[in-house]
Amino acid sequence: MPDSDDLIMFCKRDKGYVELMIHAYELFSRAYGLVMNKGKYDIYFNGVSEGIMADIEALSGMKMGGIPFRYLGMTVSPKRLSVMDCNCLVEKFVERIRGLGTRKISYAGRLVLITSVLHTLHSYWARIFILPKTVIHRIDAICRKFLWHGKETKESPALVAWDIICRPKKHGGLGLKNLDGYKWLQPALANVRWAPWVRIKLMLPKHKFFAWLVTQQRLLTHDRLVKMQIISENQCYLCGLHEESHKHLFFERVYSSQCLCLISLWVGVQIPEQNVVQWWLSLRDRSLLKKQVIATVVCSLIYYIWECRNKCRIENIIIRPEVLCKRLKSQIGDRLRCINIVSKCRATTVWMEGLQ
Ligand SMILES: [Zn+2]
Repeated sequence: MPDSDDLIMFCKRDKGYVELMIHAYELFSRAYGLVMNKGKYDIYFNGVSEGIMADIEALSGMKMGGIPFRYLGMTVSPKRLSVMDCNCLVEKFVERIRGLGTRKISYAGRLVLITSVLHTLHSYWARIFILPKTVIHRIDAICRKFLWHGKETKESPALVAWDIICRPKKHGGLGLKNLDGYKWLQPALANVRWAPWVRIKLMLPKHKFFAWLVTQQRLLTHDRLVKMQIISENQCYLCGLHEESHKHLFFERVYSSQCLCLISLWVGVQIPEQNVVQWWLSLRDRSLLKKQVIATVVCSLIYYIWECRNKCRIENIIIRPEVLCKRLKSQIGDRLRCINIVSKCRATTVWMEGLQ
């Protein structure tokens, strides 16, 4: 537009087309009172003979520009963009991440930022240009580092492979868009049992993300650290009796079973220590809402147990199961009040009121 420099108009290399385009622009100018300053405009040609170029230049009254040229910070060229041409796009990603100032944001928060900020930025550019694969891989790598470390530079192993994160939720991923096409379509993937949990809105996003990590068994528990040869001894911080693993920490004796016992009493449903997902799926006599609340309670408990385990690792303090469950009850109660879900079933309503 006359006041901006971000408009490109295309037409065939033919005087008639150029005349029509200029005429259309004049009609627009008359209607809106916006007049083109031809001195500020350039006209570009590709594959046009010198004679036609000279004619069109004289007809349009614009000066001839050279190809490639810059548009919105990117190089515009009749050839495919090179990796070098896209450097400014990669820099924009890095700038955006630095601007987010994110070390204290949870994994779930970073995941939202990747979808809403970074992938939107990518979509905008990908609509205009065909980006080279190397650039897409670089952008993926930036998003990956950002998710796990909160910055774009840190190099260390990710907790879960990017391909898994980019799988649809029903196939065990987080449904993040894979910028490099739809790789997950290639192998046939089975639906996962706990997939319905990922869609429960009642759960706090950070608890949901954490529970997803547990389903992937990707937390850096002692058994894994021993396997990686980072530590040599494996002992559970919370009981000091057994070896620490995902199963032991969240679904076995002693600490988690005490917590599960307290929580079972609170919700009035006996939650088993093992095969929780299987048990949850088989709860046919419960209303859907009640099932969702129970899954939310279990996922929150898993999160609190890990928090307690880390507190013990750093400060050597063990939070008693009673205290941990009190915090959990208060958080779930707040969440239920906050979301204010109403059940059509009277019994479920009474049950939920009892939890608040
Ligand atoms: Zn233990």
